[in-house]
Amino acid sequence: MTETVTETATHTAGGFAPPTRFAVPGRIAVSGQVAGTWQTATLTEIRRETPRAATFRFAVPGWAGHLPGQHLMLRLTAGDGYVAQRHYSLASAPDDSGHIELTLDHVADGEVSGWFHTVARPGDRIEVRGPLSGFFAWPGDRPALLLGAGSGVVPLMSMVRHHRARGLTVPLRLLVSARSPEELIYARELGAETTPVFTRSAPDGAPVGRLAAAHLAPLLAEPPGGGWEAYVCGSNAFAEHASRLLVAAGQPVDRIRIERFG
Ligand SMILES: Cc1cc2nc3c(=O)[nH]c(=O)nc-3n(C[C@H](O)[C@H](O)[C@H](O)COP(=O)(O)OP(=O)(O)OC[C@H]3O[C@@H](n4cnc5c(N)ncnc54)[C@H](O)[C@@H]3O)c2cc1C
Repeated sequence: MTETVTETATHTAGGFAPPTRFAVPGRIAVSGQVAGTWQTATLTEIRRETPRAATFRFAVPGWAGHLPGQHLMLRLTAGDGYVAQRHYSLASAPDDSGHIELTLDHVADGEVSGWFHTVARPGDRIEVRGPLSGFFAWPGDRPALLLGAGSGVVPLMSMVRHHRARGLTVPLRLLVSARSPEELIYARELGAETTPVFTRSAPDGAPVGRLAAAHLAPLLAEPPGGGWEAYVCGSNAFAEHASRLLVAAGQPVDRIRIERFG
């Protein structure tokens, strides 16, 4: 049965304590099309991806479904009523399993990511609301050129997984930037559609450096029929760098969608 809680219900995340400093819950603006209901999500599995990132799988029986690229609002409530809310992209492809997956980077001194990485255990219950933001969604109907850095790969992986799960033939390419092979999230899953770019250290013989015009040139010199829809996700700095490269390579500005985690 779907369990829902309202805005005023008290629902505490075990071991989540108010911070010693004041944090600003929900400081990131929510789209106007917020799904209005908070739902209970039960943590069922934790999978390590890299030393700093892990995937958290939740059972959310009443999840309304989502499109690849969308995110949700997550809420933790401490025993004394203190609330922390953050946005997280959906890592899982849409399916009817009644489960969703999020992948969280462990941000130094991070209130919410810190709780997930050091306290959360299967069986813990938190609240989620969504899906949010249709703008960054990819319905799977047009060629997609995906550029991500760090945990910015999360919503893009939902697109890749959707592409595979549905056996889509529409072109899809992923360029993902990570500091090193050890920090490349989803490394085990990335396939021929992906070009990793390593900024600090790379496997033997591979170049080290930022995402560059040379990575985009071959893709934009001969775009697929109808052209690429570009999706860029990462820190503010990466989003600006990547979108400048795209424009310089000829990608129309109105076909670049950007999601900033910073
Ligand atoms: C649409 C959207 C989708 C997102 N999806 C994901 C996702 O899939 N996975 C994910 O890991 N994060 C994602 N984020 C970032 C997430 O919302 C939080 O900002 C992040 O987890 C830090 O929250 P915290 O409570 O752990 O840290 P806080 O307690 O809020 O911050 C602790 C310290 O870290 C700094 N900080 C905060 N956020 C970041 C950051 N992202 N990078 C570096 N330093 C930071 C703060 O300035 C502060 O000094 C997303 C953000 C948005 C807006």
